[in-house]
Amino acid sequence: MANLLLLLSDIWAYSVLGMTTYRCPEPGCTVRIRMRFVSAEESQRLRELADDHGRHQPKGK
Ligand SMILES: [Zn+2]
Repeated sequence: MANLLLLLSDIWAYSVLGMTTYRCPEPGCTVRIRMRFVSAEESQRLRELADDHGRHQPKGK
């Protein structure tokens, strides 16, 4: 249920605000990066950051 709400909020952010959301693919990780009006280079950089779980895994793991 919580995941559905997160998905809906992503869709809302994209459709209403024109924002793009990149999400960490790691199960259980809630890191998401939203951006708007960024260059292609910046977009690529942020996407790589979101994809790289090792750079934002929670402390204590
Ligand atoms: Zn992550």
